[in-house]
Amino acid sequence: MAKEGGCLFRIGYFLYSRTSVGKFYHRRDIAKARAKYPDGQTHSVIQPKSYNDLTITPIPILLDNYAYIVTCGKTGTSIVVDPGDAEPVINYLREQNINPAAVLVTHKHWDHAGGNADFKRAFSGIKIFGGKHDNVPDVTNTVDHGHNLEFGKLTFSVHFTPGHTVGHVVYVLDGRPFGAPDSVFSGDHLFLGGCGRMFEGPPSTMLSSLDNICQLSGETLVWPGHEYANDNIEFACHLEPSNTAAQDKFDWIKQQREKRLTTCPSTIEEEKKYNPFLRTNMESVLTSLGITWNGAFQPPTDSVRAQALAEVRRQKDAFKYNL
Ligand SMILES: [Zn+2]
Repeated sequence: MAKEGGCLFRIGYFLYSRTSVGKFYHRRDIAKARAKYPDGQTHSVIQPKSYNDLTITPIPILLDNYAYIVTCGKTGTSIVVDPGDAEPVINYLREQNINPAAVLVTHKHWDHAGGNADFKRAFSGIKIFGGKHDNVPDVTNTVDHGHNLEFGKLTFSVHFTPGHTVGHVVYVLDGRPFGAPDSVFSGDHLFLGGCGRMFEGPPSTMLSSLDNICQLSGETLVWPGHEYANDNIEFACHLEPSNTAAQDKFDWIKQQREKRLTTCPSTIEEEKKYNPFLRTNMESVLTSLGITWNGAFQPPTDSVRAQALAEVRRQKDAFKYNL
């Protein structure tokens, strides 16, 4: 892969994200995943998680993506999030006799939006929602910051979170009708222990979007678009070796992944304790990154934090993992 930000990378990224070349690469990625996981196997075991009448089921797709099925047990209303590869998601829906009311898409990348056209074909009249500023393929409705989407008792608020892409959005499900915590479907904005690459915006934009997601209540469940937890937390432990929350989480993740169990959801409160991309205001992180700022008694400015965010990204991309 060409270096992120380099000329070759920019050309390749433009072709992937804006032209049908992206669809071709996506089909190749699906074939790769099918070859790696033959006979219907997947990167993770399917484990529905129930919170009273609310069930959230991460569906493992491609090499490390998650689509989600959100179901209200009282009314049977179901919503699908980010079906980048439609086939395994539709298979699961058929097995469970679920007829989805809508699809919510976080951003335009094919591993999240690549199944939209198949959903349109499979479920006549289905609505497919995507961010207004992101040119998501095959949507029927666009959404913007502050919109509320209601499907029976399932209510999602749309939060604009640019940085990974120019129009990335996350969807926050109101847990109150179920006596459950809220849930954020965070796409490639926030991962367990990490955040998305800054393909379409400067670090200051991503920083602002991460600050916004940190405004959600601490108990909000985080359902990310990829199973990246192991690598992310290994790097977090490297960057902050004395962070016991990171170390404890790493031990737990290793146990989960040995059995191919999913690592989601985490919570916003947990993420603040170990996710280095959310900790650019912490002295331990800044010191480890080699960034100095204006005195020990003043919190770092947003400009220093944006510099730190870029440096966390750079060091993580260069990090050599224990495979
Ligand atoms: Zn993406």
